[in-house]
Amino acid sequence: MSTDTLPNPEKNPARSNGELIRLEQVTKRFGDNTVLDHLDFSVDAGKHVTLIGPSGSGKTTILRLLMTLLKPDEGTITVDGQKLFPASDKEVREVRKKIGMVFQQFNLFPNMTVLRNITEAPVTVLGMSKDEAVERAKGLLDMVGLAEKCDAHPAQLSGGQQQRVAIARALAMRPQVLLLDEVTSALDPELVAGVLDVLRDIARSTDITMLCVTHEMNFARDISDQVLMFDSGRIIEAGPPEKIFSEPEKDRTREFLSAVL
Ligand code: ADP
Repeated sequence: MSTDTLPNPEKNPARSNGELIRLEQVTKRFGDNTVLDHLDFSVDAGKHVTLIGPSGSGKTTILRLLMTLLKPDEGTITVDGQKLFPASDKEVREVRKKIGMVFQQFNLFPNMTVLRNITEAPVTVLGMSKDEAVERAKGLLDMVGLAEKCDAHPAQLSGGQQQRVAIARALAMRPQVLLLDEVTSALDPELVAGVLDVLRDIARSTDITMLCVTHEMNFARDISDQVLMFDSGRIIEAGPPEKIFSEPEKDRTREFLSAVL
């Protein structure tokens, strides 16, 4: 796999240290439903953190707050020392450039070719030249195993292929953080492994910080530096995967894992 187009920890050692994401006392309510309750956590640059826990425990809400698709009711969020909340629209626009997200439902532009899906934002948002954007997009498509699909439209691809294009599209913006929201849940079972393999390669060979919501526990065990177990909008247990998956301390974590493993 070619990763020339992505940041590499050996080439860029300074970025693998220090805090990149910080949430302090973040509360999010939907009506009477307090989904996140004074949540604190931080993620160091270059780390891969997985959020696990029962459905409805607030995991996706955290990714949506970081994508600024939602706003907290209270608390502060910073990314790379810059304010994401509370923040002005200008500050938000700057910070948003550091964050890429891949959704459950791919969300590719249906009327654009695969190549154009990937080059569009780097050209329009980052002001990259078209030639450079195309060259980088081809490198990324090669990385996700779809070099020959440049001219295809999304509808001509399988769900797994579309999701790999969506990963390439997120990486084309050179984000420091990649948010992954249950990226394999909408896929037929036989397509899941190909997408997870691409993400394992990215985790292994780049210094991108990853924040990942997944039900794929083997994948979480493979890629995570840290696993956060959520229940009712709170982190009830956190630790390295070998600890959380093999010797969880909380009954709630044990119950959850025995239901999903
Ligand atoms: P998880 O990702 O852990 O399954 P979510 O973060 O998606 O949990 O949801 C947490 C809670 O917030 C759930 O009770 C869900 O119903 C509620 N919720 C999420 N988004 C909205 C919304 N846009 N409006 C109202 N309630 C929502």
